[in-house]
Amino acid sequence: MCRFSPEAKVQTYANMKSIQVILLALCCTLIACQQGPSDTPPPAQTDTNQPTVDTSSQDTLPLHSGYQLKTFPSAGANDTAWVDLGLERPDILQDIRYASTNNFMKLQIYDCGRCLLRAKVARRVIDAHDELQKEGLGLKMFDCYRPLPAQQKLWDKMPDARYVTPPSKGSYHNRGSAVDLTIVDSLGRELDMGTDFDFFGSKAYHTYTDLPQQVLDNRKRLLQLMQARGFSPTRTEWWHYALYDKRLPLSSMTWDCKPNL
Ligand SMILES: [Zn+2]
Repeated sequence: MCRFSPEAKVQTYANMKSIQVILLALCCTLIACQQGPSDTPPPAQTDTNQPTVDTSSQDTLPLHSGYQLKTFPSAGANDTAWVDLGLERPDILQDIRYASTNNFMKLQIYDCGRCLLRAKVARRVIDAHDELQKEGLGLKMFDCYRPLPAQQKLWDKMPDARYVTPPSKGSYHNRGSAVDLTIVDSLGRELDMGTDFDFFGSKAYHTYTDLPQQVLDNRKRLLQLMQARGFSPTRTEWWHYALYDKRLPLSSMTWDCKPNL
């Protein structure tokens, strides 16, 4: 038989209250530990499928297709990632001719001019530009990635395979692995290459030699610069160089012309 005196009851009640207070304190401590301080950000999520991103720049541009254009992936990152050359290297000049009517078809193909390239290609273009800069020269881009729908527009206007690659075949521009470009001096003036960009005729051929020596030297400089980085020329256009890598897929992705949001 167990009997409690009133004093003992008071003592037991006091003990129970103490235990309740202790339990309550332990509970609060546990919840606080689980939640963490309110100003602590959640741990960063690591997505191993994403290319490594240069954290020196955090610009991200929305594209119509839903792609998120990351900043320049570091060497060894996904070669198929898209790079906006203008964001990465604004010192490389651009005159994207198909974003205006200043082209051989007098037809505006793009809503606005942007030079998008696969990372693998952009790295090489930047490297070429950096080499030129040692001599006070640089690159100027006339065309870069060209979406398949734009290729279709060109083909609809000029259905002649001598001048325009049929969209059914797809051009290296549609893969983001071809560039149309020239060399500029320190003031941004184009070196004399003998013809304008998109001049269709034998005078624009690499094999055409009835030109001033300076023009031949300029073309040779561009040729050597690009070939040294794995690009191949095309016989009929001094301005066109492609990286023949069919692992870089054809694309219909288009770009957003709105300001960076
Ligand atoms: Zn081209």
